[in-house]
Amino acid sequence: MSDSIRNIVILTGAGISAESGIDTFRDGGGLWEQHRVEDVATPEGFARDPALVQRFYDARREAVQKVEPNAAHRALAELDAEWEGDLLIVTQNVDDLHERAGAKRVLHMHGELLSALCASCGQRHKWSEPLVGSPACPDCGAEALRPDVVWFGEMPYEMDRIYEELRRADLFVSIGTSGAVYPAAGFVRDAREFGAHTLELNLQRSEGSYWFDETRKGRASELVPEWVAEVLG
Ligand SMILES: [Zn+2]
Repeated sequence: MSDSIRNIVILTGAGISAESGIDTFRDGGGLWEQHRVEDVATPEGFARDPALVQRFYDARREAVQKVEPNAAHRALAELDAEWEGDLLIVTQNVDDLHERAGAKRVLHMHGELLSALCASCGQRHKWSEPLVGSPACPDCGAEALRPDVVWFGEMPYEMDRIYEELRRADLFVSIGTSGAVYPAAGFVRDAREFGAHTLELNLQRSEGSYWFDETRKGRASELVPEWVAEVLG
């Protein structure tokens, strides 16, 4: 396998973090920790009740610091360390479990819980504390920090770079993602169009499975280490 591939793009989603105990709204029938997506994951929800949204993400930020990466995160970190070709882990997850497992080449297209975005000056700040209480932006001083999480209706980060990497990819691997949320759900078609082999590792067949050359069903903590062992041969 590794003889014919050099550039790898990996897309990860909720399924890889679920095994570390991180819940997302996609697991709960449109609810995320008993909250409706419209209330806590849209700009309109934030405008309606900023205190509720800040408390919600403060709790998620606190929770994420108490969980640990699992075998799937560790296997991808090993691949990142060993792989001499280009590699990019594009994650839809807002936790830092890829990084804590040791991965370096990670792009958070939906932002990060451990980051705060200043709605006044646009700066992003590493942030592990609560945002309730309106702390001042370290750059401009405005009390305008919000969770640095891309909400529905907002543009994901670094789409130009992601499409450039998809164009160059020889192998595209999707791990633990439902294939239901765009634009990430369309990456497999872009990668195929530009000639990449496409592989899906997921608990069950997804809405996007049709587009993959190969789908393997199972837990990420089992499938990912197996696949990484194959690639590193
Ligand atoms: Zn600012």
